[in-house]
Amino acid sequence: MTDILLVVNAGSSSLKFQVYRLPTATSLAFAYGGQISGIGGLEPTFRVKAENGAILVDDAVPSIDAADLRLAQDLLLSWLRRKIDRAPIAVGHRIVHGGPRYAQSVILDDEVLGELETLAPLAPLHQHNNLAPVRVIRALWPHVRQVACFDTAFHKGHSQVVQRFAIPQYLHEQGIRRYGFHGLSYDYIAQRLRHDWPEVARGRVIVAHLGAGASACAMIDGRSVDSTMGFTALDGLPMSTRPGRLDPGVVLWMLKQGYTPEQVQHLLYNESGLKGLSGLSGDIRDLLASASGAAKLAVDYFIYRVAESLAGLCVASRGLDALVFTAGIGENSPVIRAGICEQLSWMGITIDAASNVADACCISASNSAIAVYVLATNEEVVIARQTLDRITE
Ligand code: ADP
Repeated sequence: MTDILLVVNAGSSSLKFQVYRLPTATSLAFAYGGQISGIGGLEPTFRVKAENGAILVDDAVPSIDAADLRLAQDLLLSWLRRKIDRAPIAVGHRIVHGGPRYAQSVILDDEVLGELETLAPLAPLHQHNNLAPVRVIRALWPHVRQVACFDTAFHKGHSQVVQRFAIPQYLHEQGIRRYGFHGLSYDYIAQRLRHDWPEVARGRVIVAHLGAGASACAMIDGRSVDSTMGFTALDGLPMSTRPGRLDPGVVLWMLKQGYTPEQVQHLLYNESGLKGLSGLSGDIRDLLASASGAAKLAVDYFIYRVAESLAGLCVASRGLDALVFTAGIGENSPVIRAGICEQLSWMGITIDAASNVADACCISASNSAIAVYVLATNEEVVIARQTLDRITE
């Protein structure tokens, strides 16, 4: 009977999973995967798709059954236990923060788990949620090996200059440094380029991961040389509900006004970004559909700051051969891609309007000095591969 491997990606409002079959000890074949989304919201859903795209589950979930991540986990695991006839050979987890120590994925034991819990303040929207399913799965299948795959690990090769903040050394030694995130997504894009466009992969590439969380990464020969995110997932590009780059003086001002640290945290993680600017929504689709001036300002701000950061990353990559758009907005929003590329037209970027509207793989015009790609990311397959590597070494 074929072994299976499970991948879990527990976010702030969604619980994603994928099941892979292992036709041989080292090969992976995607079987099915899906997510419970809208956790804690009014209309949670549970959707699962098979490898051939067939819909296996498309259910509205009573909000009481997915009121929090714990309930959503119970729902998913009881569904999985009915679907699979025995425990998976291993479970891979997406863990946002690996701190200064982890340069690659690692098998989760008590010590690692404890250490990763201590990093939760650095990723308050993610780390606890990422780790919660580890304990639940351990209780269910105590002998199954579980592997932590980090969003920070892909950026581990950054130079000292890129890693540092201009603050005293002793703070750096306490771990206050620029880590960079979305590494599983960048790893996937680097592998995809290497496979499909090896010439491009060897060159200078910037990947714009534009989802609800957003960042960009400069690569040379498939390795990260800089990223817009820093110490936490707050820095860099504006996001759905996070501001991106912000003068730290603003935080000082808030504290002096009497905001508690919790209030500041809530404001920066949940009330800022596109949502804060528009006063309407953190979803760019709502803003593009709105006639409000504040919604237009939010979209213009997003385009301008993303373009500005992409241009800034060219210092790290020493010029640019290719720009890749990925994640929810990057993969699906021709208007935002066109806006960013137009803002960067002085660099010689020109896109082909029809290819852009069609979400084609390559959207640059034939006379563009820089190739522009739209590639769907797949963090889960990177987690599956890293998990298999860890348990077979
Ligand atoms: P994350 O993994 O950070 O939660 P995703 O990569 O799933 O985020 O992206 C979610 C975002 O993608 C949504 O907030 C939405 O703004 C955007 N998005 C999804 N589909 C579209 C679309 N068709 N057009 C524009 N934006 C979209």
